[in-house]
Amino acid sequence: MNRRFSLRALAASALILASLHGHAADNKPLQVVASFSILADITREIAGDVAEVTSLVAANADAHVFEPTPKDALRLKTADLVVVNGLKFEGWMDRLVKSSGYKGPLVVATSGITPRLVRTSADPHAWQSLVHAQTYVKNIAEALARARPDQAAAIASRASSYSQKLQALDLDARKQLEAIPEAQRRVITSHDAFAYLGDAYKITFIAPQGWTTGSDASAGTVAAVIKQIKAKQARALFVENITDRRLIDRIAAETGAVVGGTLYSDALSMPGSEADTYLKLYAHNIQQLVTALRPKP
Ligand code: ZN
Repeated sequence: MNRRFSLRALAASALILASLHGHAADNKPLQVVASFSILADITREIAGDVAEVTSLVAANADAHVFEPTPKDALRLKTADLVVVNGLKFEGWMDRLVKSSGYKGPLVVATSGITPRLVRTSADPHAWQSLVHAQTYVKNIAEALARARPDQAAAIASRASSYSQKLQALDLDARKQLEAIPEAQRRVITSHDAFAYLGDAYKITFIAPQGWTTGSDASAGTVAAVIKQIKAKQARALFVENITDRRLIDRIAAETGAVVGGTLYSDALSMPGSEADTYLKLYAHNIQQLVTALRPKP
């Protein structure tokens, strides 16, 4: 072996070592970008100090009509991992990934979930089921562990204790809602984000806007909802944190129905407020529903 060759080989192996070192033993937190606030919170719970997690769509903001900025593209470009809901919830994501030049892994949190269908389209709001949320946890935990194999055990342990909290909340919600006669479990919201929750606890949600917020409710649909309230077929009316409340207010004014409060559909509330984590959001929504639907003495 001549001297020149061996030096070159040494340099090459040093380079390989350096790059391995950069991945496995580097203690710098992973930069993770999640598409919306609920997903960012779930990811944060599982990642702990392994990652710094940010959200593209902010708290109280509507992912259906989100318009990414060049700043968002830059955040993606420097990310180690990107987490999305999938089921076409983030219609803007493919274009954003392409324009950002991001080449890293893309975790689809709903992967493996059988979605409910609305006609032929999949309803994307699967996080409104605490059972599906556990699939989110599994998918995100696996992706984090692949990115940081040295932290796999800690990630798996956090994922498991978080999943246990989701299971406990599910049991509690079921117990509280089962105490309410099923015929009374009928609720009106503006956009149809709660069908998974409805399936889980046998609540019928009526939503004049359909399941995307991008279009207005038709006059006919609104009239049908008003008729249902007047016929006492629905007893609770809710505004959502991400949608304009005028439609619900108008329905309330025309029927004399009282708005029960706010349900958090597609986003957390601002940090420090009542629904600033996914667990708090879910517990809040269940509490609001139980209070509004409970038979009045
Ligand atoms: Zn939605």
